[in-house]
Amino acid sequence: MSVLDIAKGMGVTLGHLFKKPVTVLYPEEKVDIKPRFRGRHHLLKHPDSDLEKCIGCSLCAAACPAYAIYVEAEENDPNDPTSAGERYAKIYEINMLRCIFCGLCEEACPTGAIVLGHEFELADFRYQDFIYGKDELMVGVKGSKWQRREAAKKNKEVNIGVKSVPRKELEGVNYD
Ligand code: SF4
Ligand code: SF4
Repeated sequence: MSVLDIAKGMGVTLGHLFKKPVTVLYPEEKVDIKPRFRGRHHLLKHPDSDLEKCIGCSLCAAACPAYAIYVEAEENDPNDPTSAGERYAKIYEINMLRCIFCGLCEEACPTGAIVLGHEFELADFRYQDFIYGKDELMVGVKGSKWQRREAAKKNKEVNIGVKSVPRKELEGVNYD
C-alpha cells in the first residue's frame, strides 16, 4: 500500500467527519419508512359510509402461502349492515408469526379491504398475542398489541416508531 493510497483512505474518512450523521435515535425518533414497505395489516372501511370493505370472501386466505389468515363470514343484517356487500367477516384473524409479509392477501382482495401498512414493531411474548383479530386490524387502531398494552398501563398515547408515509392504498391510516 502506497502513501497515496493511505492519503486517499484518510480523505474518505475526513470527508465523512463533516457530514450530517445518518443515525436515527430510534425509538425516541421516528424512522422514515419507504412507501412500498410492507408491515402489519389494516382492514379498511369505506370512508364515506364507515362500512367495512371486507365482504368475508376468504380470497385473501386462499392466496396466503403461509396459511396465516382465518376468515369466517356471516350474512349482513339488511337493516344494519356491517360491510358494503352481502356478507361481512364475522371473524378475521391473521397469525403474525406465520405471516411472511408477502402482500399476496392484499393483491387477492377484490375490495381493497386488507392492506399491508408500515408498522413493524410486532415483538411480543405470548403466542396468542401474535394473533391479530378485527379489534387489532381495523383501521384507526394504532400500534401492536404490546404497544397498546404498555400505553394503557401508563395511561399514555400509543407511540409507534414510524411516521405516516403517503400510500394510496392506505386510505384513512394515520400513524401520527
Ligand atoms: S402478507 Fe402474505 S403471508 Fe402475510 S397474511 Fe398476507 S398473504 Fe399471508
Ligand atoms: S380481506 Fe378481502 S379477500 Fe379477504 S375476506 Fe375480506 S374482502 Fe375477501
